Amino acid sequence: MKMSKMYFRTLREVPAEAVLPSHIFMLRAGLIRKLVSGVYGFMPLGTRVLRKVENIVREEMDRAGGQEILMSAIQPAELWKESGRWSAYGPEMWRLKDRNDREFCLGPTHEEIFTDIIRNEVSSYRQLPVNLYQIQTKYRDEARPRFGLMRSREFIMKDAYSFDRDEEGLDLSYRNMYDTYTRIFTRCGLDFRAVEADSGAIGGNASHEFTALADNGESRIVCCDSCDMAATDERAECVDAAPSGEAELPLEEVHTPGTKTIEEVASFLGLPKEKTIKALLYETYDDDMHVNGYVAAFVRGDREANLIKIINALGIPEHAIAFADEAKMSEATGCVGGFTGPMGLKNCTVIVDSELTGQKNLCAGANREDYHCVNVNYGRDYTGDIVTNIKLIQEGDPCPKCGAPVRFTRGIEVGQVFKLGTKYSKPMGAVYKDENMKEHDILMGCYGVGISRTMAAIVEQSHDENGIIWPVSVAPYHVIITVVKAKDEVQSALAEKMEQALTEQGVEVLVDDRDERPGVKFKDADLIGIPVRITVGKKAADGIVEYKLRSGGSVEEKTADQAVEDAARLVREALSV
Ligand code: ATP
Ligand code: MG
Repeated sequence: MKMSKMYFRTLREVPAEAVLPSHIFMLRAGLIRKLVSGVYGFMPLGTRVLRKVENIVREEMDRAGGQEILMSAIQPAELWKESGRWSAYGPEMWRLKDRNDREFCLGPTHEEIFTDIIRNEVSSYRQLPVNLYQIQTKYRDEARPRFGLMRSREFIMKDAYSFDRDEEGLDLSYRNMYDTYTRIFTRCGLDFRAVEADSGAIGGNASHEFTALADNGESRIVCCDSCDMAATDERAECVDAAPSGEAELPLEEVHTPGTKTIEEVASFLGLPKEKTIKALLYETYDDDMHVNGYVAAFVRGDREANLIKIINALGIPEHAIAFADEAKMSEATGCVGGFTGPMGLKNCTVIVDSELTGQKNLCAGANREDYHCVNVNYGRDYTGDIVTNIKLIQEGDPCPKCGAPVRFTRGIEVGQVFKLGTKYSKPMGAVYKDENMKEHDILMGCYGVGISRTMAAIVEQSHDENGIIWPVSVAPYHVIITVVKAKDEVQSALAEKMEQALTEQGVEVLVDDRDERPGVKFKDADLIGIPVRITVGKKAADGIVEYKLRSGGSVEEKTADQAVEDAARLVREALSV
């Protein structure tokens, strides 16, 4: 491809909202263009990268026995009502109506659609197992679209769904996809980890997230260097402190004027924070987003609450809970902002972290302005409607598997695999008949890869101050031949010859034959991140060129033939799988 002919324009200025290197470089290199918040288009170079990521995913899915189909983005509300998710999905779902007022959505995911296909077309055990997948555009009206392709409102996903007759089959399907994802992200050149994850709104009972390690990632990962534990912070279990052996002291109300925070009350009373109880106040919503209840959650004063664990304990969707309007909650439940404790609350669900039941003589709000209670003990002074582990693990806390201190790191979720079980097949009636004509629910799994997000994650991990450094496997072109003086006939002829020789060997070549200063061309080559740069300049007459890898190292002089041979070998080796 001749750059003088390519539709290509770099951007000098990027909008201030672009803060991550991946976002900045993809805009600057002209790979993507923003239309509106969270909605992007792909330009020629960006489209080539996108297709390469897609093709890696496609090849690996096919190798694993998946069969590609392509479903519509438009989905009728009826199917979502059958699964119960029309209301549960919340404001992230892009809803629309046709001219006859019939309700639809733009698919944020496709469990319902795939379940519907299978229930209509599969009836016998002989037709199972099956794994269907698609690579297709998804729509989610994210609350905070940001970071370019990382969290957008329209994005490209590979979603796969497996259908099995029993748990054993589902285990195999899940393992097969887990291994496939490992191959996919390895081929994409990512440094990633598979971590245990919460199954969230999709549901089900086992899940792993594939996370590209990156300081700028939105996912917090907890891992243990002494064992193989790795989980999202939402998922990781925070181990309860050992129960206290202290004798219970008499409950006392104490005057603690103006001490609204844990820090303030602990220092006022001269107590360690572990001797206090922290209150978190939430309101919950019905399908129309009207407040339909209050929740008071209690954890030890030095802990943080894990909202996902609270949501799971309540069995409600993520969008159906938020911090409470304290004045309104106070009126309804008797809590007092800054002085809320677990004793004597009414009209609300009290959730108590499991650890608190074993701790003695703690300090908690008295539900009275400027007062706390000391020597508060579970069972004697208060109980919970729900008692379960709702605390968030922190760096250095004991590993839930082996007890060694855990380490935190950050990452970008590029894929997730779920065991769904019968979550969709049961309500939607996807069944098969066994050898004895007995009917069973089909067991399902679902498996997503964010294709466009993966592209961003690769750049996030692979760039320097000058631009992108594409791994060969997804680079828009493998080699860029920079012609120093495009009008020089000797130079352009040598470039042409090398382009042909490389192309014949399956190498994808971009020739920068633009009438620009060499400095501009080198800058652009670095910005767009082509793995191998061959410069054809003054020594073209002697058949000598310069050879440089984008990933580092110095400029080497080589004969044109040698450069072609080396580049072709590098590409061949990088692409061999
Ligand atoms: P997140 O927790 O980041 O919102 P999710 O858990 O909702 O993601 P899934 O439903 O598991 O996402 O979707 C499968 C994959 O699709 C994710 O692993 C991710 O790579 C990608 N993805 C999800 N939401 C977005 C988005 N808004 N923009 C780009 N890619 C996304
Ligand atoms: Mg996910």
